[in-house]
Amino acid sequence: MRIDVFSIFPEMLTGFFGQSLLGRAQRGDLVDLRAHDLREHTSDVHRSVDDSPFGGGAGMVLSPEPIFRSVESAQPPRPLYLLGPGGRRFDQSVAEELAASPGFSMICGRYEGVDQRVRDHLCDGELSIGDFVLNGGEVAALAIVEAVVRLVPGVMGNIESAADESFTSGLLEYPQYTRPAVFRDWAVPDVLRSGDHGRIARWRRAQAIARTLRDRPDLIVARRGVSDAERAMLDEFGLVAAEPHD
Ligand code: SAH
Repeated sequence: MRIDVFSIFPEMLTGFFGQSLLGRAQRGDLVDLRAHDLREHTSDVHRSVDDSPFGGGAGMVLSPEPIFRSVESAQPPRPLYLLGPGGRRFDQSVAEELAASPGFSMICGRYEGVDQRVRDHLCDGELSIGDFVLNGGEVAALAIVEAVVRLVPGVMGNIESAADESFTSGLLEYPQYTRPAVFRDWAVPDVLRSGDHGRIARWRRAQAIARTLRDRPDLIVARRGVSDAERAMLDEFGLVAAEPHD
């Protein structure tokens, strides 16, 4: 999989790309992450990448020329997404969709945003990481790269760990514990130390459902409620199966 990102601050991206799981995935040839510097494709002596908005108003807008030239010279994998608060909302299902593709690319805006002609004539779509405004697209690109790359087969050590996680099953994850068994008088639930794997699996499922009912009832509504078998698991561990409400 190849992912290209275009930015006026490429070092913000390359530092992150080289660390931890992303760094390992690249060294193992599982992904090819490329950060492109829009400033390399400026044509004036000041290497300017922005200009003031036509029609007036505060701030600066990224100019089309360096972005078009940079994309045309890199020939990045498509689809090419513009990052922006007005885009399609990125979530785990979009991450899964992108992880199944051979590659995609992103353009990071800055300042007031990007000349509209980039959106209209260069990009294939727009992605947002949530209803808030960042100073630039770099943090959004990093969030998307991280969420997508960890789903690429072979990237995470234990392939099981992706399947069990929050959202993948339509539920939040169950609580996790590690040693010590008692920390500052707080003991790990007995069931996890019982060695009874069937009971542990039912407890985890029951905890995931109870936690999702409490913290994200919208996810329970989206999966059409709680089944009879799941209700029995909640009963087994004395957890309440409150009906979700919005
Ligand atoms: N004036 C714009 C915001 C510009 S913020 C507006 O009102 O919509 C500067 C840049 O940060 C944007 O061009 C975009 O690339 C990035 N950005 C800001 N918020 C974002 C978000 N929620 N998701 C993805 N990118 C975002």
